[in-house]
Amino acid sequence: MDKIKKLAIANRGEVAVRIIRACQELGIETVLLHSDVDTQSLAYRLADETYCVGSAPTGESYLNIESNVQAALASGADAVHPGFGFLSENADFARACIENRLIFVGPSPECIELFGDKISAKKLVIEAGGPTVPGYEGQDQSIETLLAQVEKIGCPVIVKAAAGGGGRGMRVIHSLKEASSAIESAKRESLNAFGSEKVFLEKYIDGAKHIEVQIFGDSGGHVFSLFERECSVQRRHQKVIEEALSPSLSDTERQEVAAVARKIAKTANYKGAGTVEFLYHDNKFYFMEVNTRLQVEHPVTEMILGVDLVKAQILTAAGRSLLWDQQELRPAGHAIECRIYVEDPYLNGVPSLGRLGFCHWPAGPGRRFEVGFEEDDEITSFYDAMIAKVVVWDESRTRAIQKMKRTLQETVIFGLQTNIPYLLEILQHPEFIDGKMTTNFINQYFPTGLCKEDLDRHDLDLMDQVEKQIVEPYRNSEGYSINTNSNPWTANW
Ligand code: ADP
Repeated sequence: MDKIKKLAIANRGEVAVRIIRACQELGIETVLLHSDVDTQSLAYRLADETYCVGSAPTGESYLNIESNVQAALASGADAVHPGFGFLSENADFARACIENRLIFVGPSPECIELFGDKISAKKLVIEAGGPTVPGYEGQDQSIETLLAQVEKIGCPVIVKAAAGGGGRGMRVIHSLKEASSAIESAKRESLNAFGSEKVFLEKYIDGAKHIEVQIFGDSGGHVFSLFERECSVQRRHQKVIEEALSPSLSDTERQEVAAVARKIAKTANYKGAGTVEFLYHDNKFYFMEVNTRLQVEHPVTEMILGVDLVKAQILTAAGRSLLWDQQELRPAGHAIECRIYVEDPYLNGVPSLGRLGFCHWPAGPGRRFEVGFEEDDEITSFYDAMIAKVVVWDESRTRAIQKMKRTLQETVIFGLQTNIPYLLEILQHPEFIDGKMTTNFINQYFPTGLCKEDLDRHDLDLMDQVEKQIVEPYRNSEGYSINTNSNPWTANW
């Protein structure tokens, strides 16, 4: 591609692999910007070049603007893709790239800034006549004013960091007496994570669904809506399972929420991939925030629409046009994504770190695996414990759930514990099957992960087969130490 011949990836794990693959298909060379401990990964092996940008702590590597820009320049890259997390929503990073003649694959720094502050985003939406949650977004941040506002809004109230993300800097206040300590701790967490203690308050909408609309601004100034995803299965405000479309919206509601999202994006002259997030309760939508980047759960949108959002991002950044036509973007079937974490589901998700053993991702029709690590790679405590995502597509939601269950049951991961047993429990919960789950779902039914008793319900025959065909030969030939007694379920496959 003319403008982008070499692209640097300021990220790691499965998203770095996703970007590398898109570049390889577009004929673009890739440079992985990585930390010193992060050389045991698929992205490191796949990239054409690798540059170390600093030591393991994120502040010294993946969050270090200067170091990432200098490494990208030294590599001769024309562009930088920030992936998600890390510097992806950092306006200073986007600006530093542009000032150094590097194309930033994402929206403008002004756009990132506008939406990066959830208060300014909310004000823009209010001005555009969009639906928001009632609350307090004022400049006065004194504890007295905030407490008075909590009282005025009425509990439950949620205090949120203006600069927040990833569920951090957020506390639910159930009663006035806990308000002061909740506000103080949200402020503290926000200051640590985002360098700002500015917070705002919203009525806490209990029993809502999380609905988000994928938007995309192309290089010619058109804004597309790529329909919605539902991400109500959340743990500690972090998504665990996502799907497209939402099982809960009527066609009219679907069009309504897409139109609101598109209007917000148009108002901001949005370019590139973005997501407008809403809460949905009693058939009403409430704007939450705009994420100015690729989303972890972007594959479910790709699967129902037959598009490639990462290529679209790169093409748009290079000033090229897309093949899309809004009228022709018609969703087909249903897609579900499960995030695979190395953690102990029986110990409330404690990370399970160390060397990955043998992994088998069972291919099949409508199955897609976004994998960041392979056998023998070391999963360290420095970064997120998500090692992969499993995505499935089928003609209906019921079939997609069946396919996801089967795919996860056939997935084999040795050496470390994973959340797969936990995901399987969720997938067979009646509330999930009915599509009625809200953001309370996990707190209500799985407050502390899984109990050992839950193991009995699984398919013992399948486990026996796995034991005979995979576990035993593997154990014998390699002498590998697998975290198991006789039951492969406890061996986290
Ligand atoms: P972050 O940017 O940290 O991910 P969001 O604003 O996207 O934060 O909110 C994350 C999650 O927190 C939402 O998906 C929802 O579950 C919950 N949440 C946020 N605001 C509210 C609210 N006003 N009422 C109820 N739940 C909320």
